[in-house]
Amino acid sequence: MARHFHDHQIVVASHNPGKVREISDLFRPCGIEVLAAKELGLDEPEETGTTFLENATLKAKASAEASGLPSLADDSGLVVPALGGAPGVHSARWAGPERDFDLAMERLFKELGDGNRSAHFVCSLVLAWPDGHLECFEGQVLGTLVWPRRGGYGFGYDPIFLAEGEDQTFGEMEAEKKHRISHRAEAFRQLVSACFKTGE
Ligand code: IMP
Repeated sequence: MARHFHDHQIVVASHNPGKVREISDLFRPCGIEVLAAKELGLDEPEETGTTFLENATLKAKASAEASGLPSLADDSGLVVPALGGAPGVHSARWAGPERDFDLAMERLFKELGDGNRSAHFVCSLVLAWPDGHLECFEGQVLGTLVWPRRGGYGFGYDPIFLAEGEDQTFGEMEAEKKHRISHRAEAFRQLVSACFKTGE
């Protein structure tokens, strides 16, 4: 059985304001105050893990230890089996210091050539308590890569990702629809159901 969350505050171990906003929205109905790691002056640890789970864990643990409060971290990315799992945990880094995802998407298709276009997004979510207890969740969404890019919504690799059973790429979808079917939504559903619901 997962540990239930009884505190009134949670730290989101991310310096990305978009993620902090998304997570705050999610917790609003639970009456939990969301604090951002950046506002608390916490350092962002280097993502040295080789898996999404390792990276989410090291971010959540560092924040829980430094703040003395339960902390939530996520790590996500695009996995292309035909490229040996790349860009994977390096999804953000493929876009370079300028965060140029046009470049990252072009590189992906150059390296893929005629290879299999199956791909999936993964999101690992880790909730860490200051006493060292961890609860871990993973959401995935399966799909295919399309080229050329389609749509201007979303971020990152959204314009080239077609989820299974959909005819719009994530880049063509309204945010509300993407947020219902995404890897992040799936991981959050698991987290809320395991740690934030009483089960009645
Ligand atoms: P993180 O902030 O370390 O989790 O970086 C995740 C990276 O993976 C992002 O910068 C994107 O490149 C990619 N990524 C993760 N989730 C998505 C998504 O929903 N759409 C598009 N790209 C994503």
